[in-house]
Amino acid sequence: MGAVNYIIDHIPLGTPCNRRPAHPMLQPTTITVHNTGNPSSTARNERDWLANPTNNRTASYHIVVDEHQAIECIPIWENSWHAGDGSVPMISGNRTSISIEICESGNYERTLDQATELVARLLTERGWGIERLRRHYDWSGKICPRLMYDKGRWTGWLQFKQRVTAKLAQTTIGGETMTKEEKALLESIKTTVQHLAQRVEYLENKQRMNIPAYAQAAVEAAVGAGLLYEPEESSEDFYRLLTIIHRKGLI
Ligand SMILES: [Zn+2]
Repeated sequence: MGAVNYIIDHIPLGTPCNRRPAHPMLQPTTITVHNTGNPSSTARNERDWLANPTNNRTASYHIVVDEHQAIECIPIWENSWHAGDGSVPMISGNRTSISIEICESGNYERTLDQATELVARLLTERGWGIERLRRHYDWSGKICPRLMYDKGRWTGWLQFKQRVTAKLAQTTIGGETMTKEEKALLESIKTTVQHLAQRVEYLENKQRMNIPAYAQAAVEAAVGAGLLYEPEESSEDFYRLLTIIHRKGLI
């Protein structure tokens, strides 16, 4: 990912305190910026804290960045608990926003450079502009990212947005502008990956659900087609209807 050393090191499914709930977040709509609130922790420390058995908080984040690297702790097609605004699907920051924790340790200027690069990359890859960028504060009023607060003037936040805007002007994917066909191909690959992730999620959840045997195939087809946002228990009527639609070959 550009000049950023991007490491994928996901915490396990089933991490205590529901820190990786694995709710699908197939169509995030924003990116949310935080500070870790810890002046001495590195990205590695923050990643390891998420999986630490003595951590009893239900709080998590997708990506943590310091002066040396960015670590993806939770897949960005799943949600993380970072915005302090509940769990309403499609609405809350916790269910719609990709979370970035900016470390406060080490050379903070260099860390901000890395964060700028990272955020500009994530926006560009999705075809998003600067208007998709949020603070934790925007979701729940928490003073976060606290190092950008400046007694309520948010000077650091305005500067950070300016830096990202400047970077966006020069950022392209893979060092070159993509053609229309390449963009379409990238989108279709992303969709395939997301559907596969959803299918894995479905298979993992299947045992916990009480789907009638006759409806299994219809539910699987609906999940595979991305029509069911999240497999969950539903009414008998719902399963009957789904099965009829499936048998008619509509899904
Ligand atoms: Zn925060």
